[in-house]
Amino acid sequence: MRHISTTCPYCGVGCGVRATLADGQLTAVAGDADHPANYGRLCVKGSALHETLGEQGRLMRPRVDGREVAWATALDAVAERLAATRREHGKEAVAAYLSGQLLTEDYYVANKLFKGFIGTPHLDTNSRLCMASAVAAHRRAFGADAVPCSYEDLEEAELVVLVGSNLAWNHPVLYQRLKVAKTRNPLMRVVVIDPRVTDSCEIADLYLGLRPGSDARLFNGLLAWMADRGRLDALYLARHTRGLDAALAAAREDDVSLAAVAADCDLDPERLETFYYWFASQLHVVTPFSQGINQSSSGTDKGNAIINCHLAGGKLGLPGAGPFSITGQPNAMGGREVGGLANQLAAHMDYDSPGAIDRVTRFWSTPSLTPSLPEAPGHKAVDLFEAIERGEIHALWIMATNPAVSLPRADRVRAALEQCPLVIVSECVADTDLLAYADIVLPASSWSEKDGTVTNSERRISRQRGLLPPPGEARHDWWIICEVARRLGYGEAFAYAHPAEIFDEHARLSGFENLPGTPGERLFDISGLAWLDRAAYDALAPIQWPVTAAAPRGTARLFEEGRFATPDGLARLVPVRPRGPEQALCAARPLRLNTGRIRDQWHTMTRTARSPRLMNHRPEPFIEVAPADAAAWGVSDQQLARLRGAGGDYVGRVRLAKGQRRGEVFVPMHWNDRFSGAALAGRLLAAHLDPLSGQPEAKQGAVALAPL
Ligand code: SF4
Repeated sequence: MRHISTTCPYCGVGCGVRATLADGQLTAVAGDADHPANYGRLCVKGSALHETLGEQGRLMRPRVDGREVAWATALDAVAERLAATRREHGKEAVAAYLSGQLLTEDYYVANKLFKGFIGTPHLDTNSRLCMASAVAAHRRAFGADAVPCSYEDLEEAELVVLVGSNLAWNHPVLYQRLKVAKTRNPLMRVVVIDPRVTDSCEIADLYLGLRPGSDARLFNGLLAWMADRGRLDALYLARHTRGLDAALAAAREDDVSLAAVAADCDLDPERLETFYYWFASQLHVVTPFSQGINQSSSGTDKGNAIINCHLAGGKLGLPGAGPFSITGQPNAMGGREVGGLANQLAAHMDYDSPGAIDRVTRFWSTPSLTPSLPEAPGHKAVDLFEAIERGEIHALWIMATNPAVSLPRADRVRAALEQCPLVIVSECVADTDLLAYADIVLPASSWSEKDGTVTNSERRISRQRGLLPPPGEARHDWWIICEVARRLGYGEAFAYAHPAEIFDEHARLSGFENLPGTPGERLFDISGLAWLDRAAYDALAPIQWPVTAAAPRGTARLFEEGRFATPDGLARLVPVRPRGPEQALCAARPLRLNTGRIRDQWHTMTRTARSPRLMNHRPEPFIEVAPADAAAWGVSDQQLARLRGAGGDYVGRVRLAKGQRRGEVFVPMHWNDRFSGAALAGRLLAAHLDPLSGQPEAKQGAVALAPL
C-alpha cells in the first residue's frame, strides 16, 4: 500500500488529497492534512474521487476521420493538416480552445506552440466563462491580474461579504473553513448578497436577495454612502490610490439615496443600510465574489465596483481584508499565469506590456528557431466560435473541454464546429457529444494519471501527481502537443522529457527581465522555483506566488506595502456606471433565468456522473421556481416543464423553491445531450458579452416557462 499526495481536480479551492494505492488501484482518498488549502478536509465530490475512475468509458486510441490509428499516424495527421491550413489560409486561420482543467505544464506548451510558433493569437480557454471579468477588474484596479488575499484572510475577517457566490455548494471546503472560523469568532459577521437563497445563507447574519444584475448599483451606493458619512480612509486613498473623485462622480450620476438604491436593487432600505454600516465600520472585511459577478455583460464593472469600496475604505493588504475572486476551475489561475487567454501573451505579459513581444520572442528563441509572435490579441471564446461561423478559422484544436455544451447558443456552436474544416479534440472520455464534430480525436490522460502543477484561487501552486498509468494508449496533453510541435519543425523548442522541464522554463520566463521596484515589474514571478531538479519538482510543497529571491517561501498576501503593479504604483478606483442585463425580458420570455452549479456535480458530468452517491443528490435536470410563479405559469412541484430561451428549449422537473425570487428561475448547467437530450442550459442563453472581458452573461438569461 502506498500513499501519494496530490490535488483535487474539481473546484478552485484546490484541496490537497492523500491517495491510497494498493495492487495498482486507487483504493481510497482522504484530505491531505498538510495541505494549506484544506488541512485534511474534502467535500463530497473530492471524497468520491476514487469512485469516478476506471477504464470504462475512456477514450483509448487515437482516431482520424473515424478510423482508429496508431499515435504516429494521428500526430502526423494533426501536424500535416495544421501546416496545410496555415499555408493555405494564413496563421490566423488556426485556433485553439483550452481549459482550466489542463495542468499548467500542458497550458504552457500549448500557448507556446500556438502563439509562439504557429503564430496565431487565437488561443482562448473555457476559463473565459469562469473568471475573465475578475481578471479584467484586477488589471484595471491593481495593474495586474492579482488576487490579493489568502484563505486565512477569510478566517481572520470580522465581516465576510459573499457576493454572487454560493460557497457552500461551489467551494465547499472554503465554506467549511468559514463556518468553523465563525464559530470560533462570535463577532464575525457574514453577509450573503445573491438573488437566490442558497445553502450559504445558513451562516448569514444578513441576506440581501437583490435584483439580478444590480450588484454594481449596490456597491456604487456603498461608495457614496461611505463618502457622505466620512467613512472613507482618506490617508490610504491619498497615499495609495487614484480615481476616487471620478468613481464617486460616476456613482452619483444615479440617485444614491438609500431609498433609490434599495428600490433599484429591490431590497429593503433598512437591511441595505445595515450592510453599508457593517462594511463601513469594519476594517477587516473580505468580499469573496464568484460567477454571480463575473458571468455578466457588465461583470468587469461589477468587480471594480466591489474593489472600489475596498480601496476607498483601505480594506486591502491587511490580515482579514480584501476583495477575493474565487475561481471556479482547478487551474483557471494557472492558465492565466502562462498566458492562456486570447488577450494575454505569456507569463502575465500582455500585448500592450512594453517590450513584452520582444522579450518573449528572445526567451523562446533557440539557436536555430525564432518564434513569430502575433502582435495583437486574438478572439475570445464566444468570438472565436463566431469567427468559425464566418469561415475565418479553418482549424481548431480543443483540449479538455466541451464548448458544444458550455457556451451560450450551444446549437450555433455545434453548427460552427460542423462547418469547421478541421476539428481536433483531445479528450479523456469516449462518448462526449463533442466527438461527433472531431476529424481527429486524441485520447488524453486524466486526473490520477496526469503529472504537473495547478494554481488555486489564493495563488497557491500545488503538485498534481500521477498515481496510475493512463489506460490504453491515452497520453499526456503536454506530450501530445510537443510531438505535434516536433512534426511541425519546432522540436528544438519543445524538447521536454518531463513536465519538470516545462515548469522550469515557465518559472524562468516569469522572472525573465523582471526588475524589482521598476515600473512594469510583473507581480507574477515564480523565478524562485526555477532550476528545480526532478526530485525537487516532485517534492514541491504548495506555495503561493510570487516566489522570488526576495520571497523564497512565497507570498500569502499582496499589496501589504500599499504599492500596486501600475506604472505609478497607485491602485485605481474605476468609474462604474451600472448597466442591467443585456438579455431583456419580454412577453415571449418574461422570466429571468439564472444558471449555475449544483453541489455534487462538476461541469459536464463526465466524471461525477460515474459515482452513484454523487448522482443521488440531484439525479435529473430540474427547474427551480418560486411557488407563486409555479401557480402563475401552470406548473406544479415535480412536474416536467419546459423553458423556452434564446436558442432553444430545456426540459426539467419543477422544484418549488421558496428561496427563488418571483419572476426568476434557476437551472443547473451540468446536464447535456449525453445525459439528457433536452436539458442543455446553453441553449437557453443568448451570447451577450462583457465588452472588456468577453465573458458571457450566463446568469441573466430570459425564458418562458410552461408545463410539458
Ligand atoms: Fe475538490 Fe473543491 Fe471539494 Fe476541495 S472543495 S475537495 S477542491 S471540489
